[in-house]
Amino acid sequence: MKYVGVDVGGTNIAAGAVSAEGEVTLKKTISARAFREGSLIMKDIADLCRDVMSEDGGEFAYIGVGVPGAVETETGVSRKMANINLDDLPIRDELEKMTGFRVFLANDADCAALGENVNGAARGSGMSVTVTLGTGVGCGVIIDGTILKSSFSNGGEAGHQVIEYGGRQCGCGRRGCWERYASVTALIYDSNEAIKRAPSSALAKLARRGGGRVTGRLAFEAAAAGDPTAISVIDNYLRYVACGVTNLINIFDPEIVVIGGGVSEQGDVIIEPIKKYVAKDVYGGILRAKIVTAALGNDAGLVGAAMLGRHRLGRL
Ligand SMILES: [Zn+2]
Repeated sequence: MKYVGVDVGGTNIAAGAVSAEGEVTLKKTISARAFREGSLIMKDIADLCRDVMSEDGGEFAYIGVGVPGAVETETGVSRKMANINLDDLPIRDELEKMTGFRVFLANDADCAALGENVNGAARGSGMSVTVTLGTGVGCGVIIDGTILKSSFSNGGEAGHQVIEYGGRQCGCGRRGCWERYASVTALIYDSNEAIKRAPSSALAKLARRGGGRVTGRLAFEAAAAGDPTAISVIDNYLRYVACGVTNLINIFDPEIVVIGGGVSEQGDVIIEPIKKYVAKDVYGGILRAKIVTAALGNDAGLVGAAMLGRHRLGRL
């Protein structure tokens, strides 16, 4: 028996056929065209699921869908979505009508955390926290193979823990949220500020050579080449990442913290300093949790979505 996992994003929508072990056997991606009518997006999701199932040829038990925002998991209704026109829609019921399959719906960061727990970097661990450093900062907590369920659909928003009171303005309305310091968006902002302050630095030269386009990778490249401006940008960024990770460890005491998102491709370049800063600050003085980079990359959300029904329908 297989499952369809769908990862809905503001740019692309990916769907895959996933085995019970969490292996992706077939994957298809379409452009989200995120700001058209929500019913058209849902119809495309249903068509994509049907394509995946017919091309794969396996037998499928259900469809799991991860969406970028708050979800009422019991009713399958979406609430506020980020970067896609799917607010307040009965996505589960609509997709069930269109596909004839049972559908499970959850937040995409929760799905990524579940994917890493089932078949990724946190495989086999009883409790894991997965943090995704991307456009924003996502977070999912898995306990005994199950997503930690919040009471009112808004739990796990670790990206909006304030780590700098009165700090940078966040889209959520507060100031100083973690994601304003630890997301890739924040790293790009920091890099641009450093380039303005130090126009003759290697970082600034590298940016100009690339036509002025600053990416999340740029400061890592310049730092690897020994540029002190870039080294300072990265060090400052990783201290903020570590600050939020320390808070999560202090709250949850997990076996493992998985760092995902684009920045995680830097591997030990980020993990070693994060471990050092967390070990210095963690409550109790000894860092017991493992801190590792994600293993499933872009497939984590899709794999986790495909696993959504398992604990609710029993182990299939
Ligand atoms: Zn916020």
